[in-house]
Amino acid sequence: MKIPGTDAEFRRIAEKLIKSGHKAYLVGGAVRDTFLKRPVTDFDIATDATPQRCMELYPYAIPTGIQHGTITVLPRSKAYKVEITTFRTEGTYTDNRHPDSVEFVSDIITDLSRRDFTINAMAIDLATEAFVDPFEGKKDLASKLIKAVGDPEERFREDALRALRAVRFSAQLQFKIEAATLEAAIKFSGSLSKIASERIRDEFSKILLSRHPSTGLALLVSTAMADTFIPELRACQGVSQPIHGNKDVLSHLFDTVDAVIPDELPEERLLVIRLAALFHDIGKPACRREEQGKISFYAHESESARIARFRLMRLKFPNAIIDAVCHLVRYHMFNYDSSWTDSAVRRFVARVGVEAIPDLFELRLADTIATTGVPHSWAVLQELRTRIDAVIEAKQALSLRDLAVNGDDLASIGVPRSKEMGALLSELLDAVLDDPRLNTRESLLRLAEAKYFSLSRTKS
Ligand code: ATP
Ligand code: MG
Repeated sequence: MKIPGTDAEFRRIAEKLIKSGHKAYLVGGAVRDTFLKRPVTDFDIATDATPQRCMELYPYAIPTGIQHGTITVLPRSKAYKVEITTFRTEGTYTDNRHPDSVEFVSDIITDLSRRDFTINAMAIDLATEAFVDPFEGKKDLASKLIKAVGDPEERFREDALRALRAVRFSAQLQFKIEAATLEAAIKFSGSLSKIASERIRDEFSKILLSRHPSTGLALLVSTAMADTFIPELRACQGVSQPIHGNKDVLSHLFDTVDAVIPDELPEERLLVIRLAALFHDIGKPACRREEQGKISFYAHESESARIARFRLMRLKFPNAIIDAVCHLVRYHMFNYDSSWTDSAVRRFVARVGVEAIPDLFELRLADTIATTGVPHSWAVLQELRTRIDAVIEAKQALSLRDLAVNGDDLASIGVPRSKEMGALLSELLDAVLDDPRLNTRESLLRLAEAKYFSLSRTKS
């Protein structure tokens, strides 16, 4: 069997084991994705060589998880990773997340039987190219089914993360979860609260990055898995919003996530925008008011940003991602119309920050696509975008660092370095946002003098 995606260097890495008299099987995602004709990014090899033996064979390997039998070998190109793991079986699980011990074994079948799903438990012998499929994974691939290896309840009892992985694979591959597997996943969904946040974060991110995330997200809510890490989602179910064609907030969130188009977006940006899409209205249930038959969600963007920060911190997302997501959520509500003055456009960009503009528009485009019948059509937003681009192009001052004066200049005319200096700089920026022609050293120093010394005089 020709294994696509494997190059000469991968062969060399595998041959090292084989030539030393060891077994080498391609296992896991690479086998599954090869059959599905999906791109293979990383390779897992299972072998009977002990971890120590592997380190001898590959002296430059990284002992990533050596106590569990895994080392990582990088090809010279560093284009992919090869993880080599000694055949193993796992001892009992007393905590729904870690085996109490792992034991190295000598055969591939035992190793495959500890894996999560049948489609992940197939192997190709790299010496003979023989295909090993004891749990009929190939058949489940053809039927588009996620099915646990062995007794589903036992598998999810051992490691509750597998329940979330079932949803992740179902979202990525657009497969159904087999009935008994789904039932067991639901039964153990509550045990996800015992799983390390980082493991949940990684699976959850993969769901958001999949082609049609709403399938996975809806499953997370219907199976109650989401209740363990974003319980606020459930509260959005059934909260209607008249201007959204009476779609509830939860469906609107899901539609918005789906509407973020991945085209050419680097993975991290796509994740940030999809997270922002998922959280952008999550504060609405808490902010819903009904007065004289009119429903409003005043200040929901701040509440949504608060929830996003809290949940993403608990999931241990990096700070840069959390800040970017919360910023987008906080600023997603803006109501542009053609009557905005140029000064209003500049103030908007100054408030949001030039760097956040492209992602904010991606989010707003998705929000607009997901909302039918809103008066704010995309064409109007396009007009705002064109005006913003003109502001940026003209290199007009949009932040303190663009001002023609700085703290040293103000100090030179006698303004003390204090909170007041900061306030004065902000006032100067304000004036420049109104009238960009003021952004010269001369004009600003004159203005600063007038503002600061007249203020000091009135105080004394
Ligand atoms: P991806 O393309 O996302 O990397 P993958 O199938 O390679 O998908 P990994 O998380 O890299 O997934 O795991 C590699 C393999 O290890 C899986 O295919 C599966 O056989 C096994 N595996 C991973 N996590 C678990 C788990 N929690 N329980 C059982 N087996 C697992
Ligand atoms: Mg993998």
